[in-house]
Amino acid sequence: MKAAIYAGPGRLQLGDWPEPRIGPGEMLVRVSGCGLCGSDILKATSPATKAPAVFGHEMVGKVVEVGAGVKGFRRGRRVVVAHHVPCFACHYCRRGSPSMCRDFKLSNLDPGGFAELCRVPAPNAAHAAFALPDSMSDETASFTEPLACCLRAVKRAGAAPGDTVMVVGLGSIGCLLARAFSLAGAAVFGADLVAGRRALGRRAGARVPDDDAELDAALRQATAGRGVDIVMLTAGGAALLPWAAARVRDGGQLHYFAGGAGASLPLSLADLYHRELTVSATYSSSPVELREAFDLLSRGTVSVDGLITHRLPLGQLARGVELMQRQEAVKVYITP
Ligand SMILES: [Zn+2]
Ligand SMILES: [Zn+2]
Repeated sequence: MKAAIYAGPGRLQLGDWPEPRIGPGEMLVRVSGCGLCGSDILKATSPATKAPAVFGHEMVGKVVEVGAGVKGFRRGRRVVVAHHVPCFACHYCRRGSPSMCRDFKLSNLDPGGFAELCRVPAPNAAHAAFALPDSMSDETASFTEPLACCLRAVKRAGAAPGDTVMVVGLGSIGCLLARAFSLAGAAVFGADLVAGRRALGRRAGARVPDDDAELDAALRQATAGRGVDIVMLTAGGAALLPWAAARVRDGGQLHYFAGGAGASLPLSLADLYHRELTVSATYSSSPVELREAFDLLSRGTVSVDGLITHRLPLGQLARGVELMQRQEAVKVYITP
């Protein structure tokens, strides 16, 4: 079968990959599409990634084979499947850190969503696969995993009705976070340097002033001068932390929804201590949020209209990566 194969840092090319075979509890899915995630781009550009590999974990497709004992799925059903599943039983899982579970990162789709066919391992078939109703498009379903990560970030940040929050970076993740915060009852502000993304953030329900002066005036007015309760950072990296700290209230929270290779956080201990700030982060989601995200998307409670800006065939994955790196694309959707 064909797959978009990672052959070393920055090199993604269409090639032949062995067709996966399934065992008991597993499913074989013919991929219809897969969203390109920022984490795929980090892997595709990192020297630490082992080649050859196939990425893609925001995968939608049609079941072509069902292994013995699989419940709830049959041939021909459209499904969305996520890549990581925790063990539900270890110390990390029992203490609310499922994405730190050692089984979590070891679990994966085989080979990934940027291929014609994909094996869904038994834990994923049992806990991270959802059958699409006829009314739900493949493209909408492909947002299940990214939205799940956003829902978990909003929970971990502890957003509550009456809070005022600010989402920094209004790409697809920033827009999903804005919607998730609104659902949690918070008033949402957004910030982005790119005008097109500010417009997207407004469509997602955030209040997005055009420049810092306007933003600061609006934040002062909305919070009686305190600053926002939570700043959620999806872009800008470590360097943006002082800017964010100047806009969060005393006792507030700075929450990272993004990594950055080698970057350490510039924040004074005096600020952290005397202002009682919390710096936190969310990495990935769990089957609990995958189910919540799938339900919100399938019912249309969360809309993803306008987030996919480019649809590209498998052979053009490298171009999709470039478009996202240059910020020309918001979300790229790859079809075999
Ligand atoms: Zn993702
Ligand atoms: Zn575990």
